[in-house]
Amino acid sequence: MHRIPFDRVNWTTSSFLIGTALIAVVGVPLYIINFGLDWFQFAMFAFYVTATMMSITVGYHRLFSHISFKAKWPVKLFTLVFGACAFENSCLDWASDHRRHHKHVDHDEDPYDISKGFFWAHIGWLLFKLNPEPPMDNVNDLRKDKMVMWQYKYVHWIGLIVGLIIPPILGYFWNLSQGLVPWQGALGGFLIAGVARVVVAQHCTFFINSLCHTVGRQPYSTKHSARDSAIMAFLTFGEGYHNYHHEFQHDYRNGVKPWQWDPSKWTIWTLSKIGLAENLRRVPDGKILLAEMHEARRRAQLHLDELRNAGPGVGHRTLDAVHELVEKLSANYHELEQAVTNRVQLSREVLNEWQAETRALLRQLGRMPSIPA
Ligand SMILES: [Zn+2]
Ligand SMILES: [Zn+2]
Repeated sequence: MHRIPFDRVNWTTSSFLIGTALIAVVGVPLYIINFGLDWFQFAMFAFYVTATMMSITVGYHRLFSHISFKAKWPVKLFTLVFGACAFENSCLDWASDHRRHHKHVDHDEDPYDISKGFFWAHIGWLLFKLNPEPPMDNVNDLRKDKMVMWQYKYVHWIGLIVGLIIPPILGYFWNLSQGLVPWQGALGGFLIAGVARVVVAQHCTFFINSLCHTVGRQPYSTKHSARDSAIMAFLTFGEGYHNYHHEFQHDYRNGVKPWQWDPSKWTIWTLSKIGLAENLRRVPDGKILLAEMHEARRRAQLHLDELRNAGPGVGHRTLDAVHELVEKLSANYHELEQAVTNRVQLSREVLNEWQAETRALLRQLGRMPSIPA
């Protein structure tokens, strides 16, 4: 058992995280039992959860941390104001931590390093300050942005007023207009769209650092722990395709396939169509497929090595078949690599064929016998 390092507890953050969670878990059910849940309270909660989460994913993450697109001032203002309501610190601090996470992923300097355990990556890194705070020397570009610096200065005030004071005021006047008890509306606004929404949004963001480095597939790379999971994408407004994201962090899309659930990507695309966003960065399709083929080939080679090491129990026919798969994947990979290096324009149809063949070869590999028991 590890002892809890009480001398290193970050008391302000810990009290906030534990206090809000307790108020939400105890207060919300008590409120609903006593006063019921009015549709206005529910709508306010839905709006606030969406605005807060999107401000973190579209704003803090894809716009400010990765500069994956350029945005006009209304987008910046909205995401900075509602980002503050997530109580995840200022955009400048967040981006600095996040850029270090990408640079040192799974290593000691990664602030939410998953190799220190699930709890640490989820919330432990916030509750305890084990190491001295590193200098924020990786966000000089953001320091030049007046709006970012304004939010940096007033982040707690913005979060408090917009995130925790406005919902009770709205709840108060809603009940007043409906001939209901006004203070009950105010209490509901504070508990549901205020506190419970902060808790939900925070844990959904924390999941990106914990579950998205634990649960799911790694179709693009195994050089880092990040994973792709549709369920996580659903809980995190599209950030669950984290294996892709760590491989191609400057792409404005995390769910890069057209069918993947990524509301943040759809929002950025829509903003670009109405003139509020531009310079959307995309990794060329050939390069993405190349990463997938590289990973498929690596997996096939690993399978072959394991079979070879298993000794005489493995039949020649199996070895030959797996060997053939490895060769085929290698040949395809090199051919595509040549095309990508020579900047040959590959049509969507050609890429789809490559993709289908890689998938078919991987399926074939899946059917091959693995190491005998
Ligand atoms: Zn990550
Ligand atoms: Zn990122």
